[in-house]
Amino acid sequence: MSISEKPMAPEETPPERRSSWPVFEQPRGLVVYLVVLVAAALFLFGVAIAQTTVTTLDLVLFVALVLCALVCLEAIRRIGVPEGLSRDLLGAWWLPAMLLLPPLYSLLIPVPVFLLQRRKRRAMLHRQVFNTASVGVSGFLASMVWHGAQGGLVAGIGGAPDTHATLASVNGVFLALLCCAVFTLFNTALVFMAARLSTEGGTPSMWDREAFLVDCVELCVGVTVAILAQLSLFLLVIAVPPVLLLQRSLVYQQLQTAARTDPKTGLLNAPTWEKEAASQVARARAAQGRAAVLIVDIDHFKRVNDTYGHLFGDQVLLGVATTISQQLRQSDLLGRFGGEEFVVLLPGADTTEAWQAAERLRSQVGRMEIAVDDVLVSITISIGVAVVGDHGDDLVELLTAADLALYRAKETGRDRVCLPAGRPEVSGKIPGPREGRGHEGSGAENLP
Ligand code: GH3
Ligand code: MG
Ligand code: MG
Repeated sequence: MSISEKPMAPEETPPERRSSWPVFEQPRGLVVYLVVLVAAALFLFGVAIAQTTVTTLDLVLFVALVLCALVCLEAIRRIGVPEGLSRDLLGAWWLPAMLLLPPLYSLLIPVPVFLLQRRKRRAMLHRQVFNTASVGVSGFLASMVWHGAQGGLVAGIGGAPDTHATLASVNGVFLALLCCAVFTLFNTALVFMAARLSTEGGTPSMWDREAFLVDCVELCVGVTVAILAQLSLFLLVIAVPPVLLLQRSLVYQQLQTAARTDPKTGLLNAPTWEKEAASQVARARAAQGRAAVLIVDIDHFKRVNDTYGHLFGDQVLLGVATTISQQLRQSDLLGRFGGEEFVVLLPGADTTEAWQAAERLRSQVGRMEIAVDDVLVSITISIGVAVVGDHGDDLVELLTAADLALYRAKETGRDRVCLPAGRPEVSGKIPGPREGRGHEGSGAENLP
């Protein structure tokens, strides 16, 4: 796993206004974390180099694994990797180095990949340094565990075809898988920490079922490549095509997910949400069931941008998206509709349930406090609600009704939930003089 950026098109040059040291624009905690990790990698390198005898055989295997990794990297670069946290199968080459070579090589093996990425990708140096240090330190520790456990415990991977040796080899393979799992866990934990420190608005999701499967495949491929390489270095040649194919299918799957989601918030994008919501509404209609649509709009978001800048505005968007998704059920459908608007489909909800859900979202988002420098900023949202049967029969009608309701919520003072018709509901909350609040902040319009 790594944090990736958009590959740079051949004719593209890095944008002028981008600082060449964007690390200093990152949150302080992230900078400290990065410095500590790189210092740890350098320290381990110093210790390892003093204790390692470099042999020609080890060097040849190291170079062969690096070449395989570079071939795979070049192949995915041509397809393009989506931005953000991404999983690759480079472990297919890190893991054999971890198992077959002294720990020093695990620290070194991500370095050539880092150098290649420096040449080909946009210059976000700190991310690439982080990925390199994270893979290096994780590989080093897992390699230490593996080599430590080898002391007479098992015969190692590969082996002669007699029963005793076969059993020892099976044990060796299981131990190898365990050590590789240590690598994956450690690397994921390091990436998770970095992602958490860099997004103050919410916690990134690192492990879903798909990601877990990819990690398992990576472990199996890594150990298989190690067995091949131990049998003969030349067998690495037959390992490259299947790894490449797996890598390509993984990238395609990530691109497919990226095409469905909004990159800033990780929510479904508008076309995908509309498609899925339309079919759920149609199903609810056919089964005489219920469903409700909410349109959520951040109040005076332009002011937030104007006061604290667009980057902070983006953090607020992510924070709101995370808070809303934490309040919803698994079956609810949340998407980013555009700008500072979100849409929610609540299957099975009648007017009362939809109302309660919308109020819960409104009050939770209202409680959020996002830090910018030393100031805590809070925001409010307005929500328009429409229910299948009462306000529309298909998604277009429901969205139109919910949009009218949202308009009423804005007109009548913001920070409230409204239905398409009737008296606007009272938020029950008298807005105080907090940041990001509109002119209606006196709260007079909110009173019954
Ligand atoms: P209202 O309470 O009436 O909704 O006021 P508002 O300021 O929230 O609404 P308006 O439509 O006037 O402005 C929406 C703002 O949202 C303007 C635009 O710059 C900002 N915006 C849209 N998309 C993004 C985004 O992806 N990131 C950031 N930071 N701002 C965005
Ligand atoms: Mg809007
Ligand atoms: Mg708005």
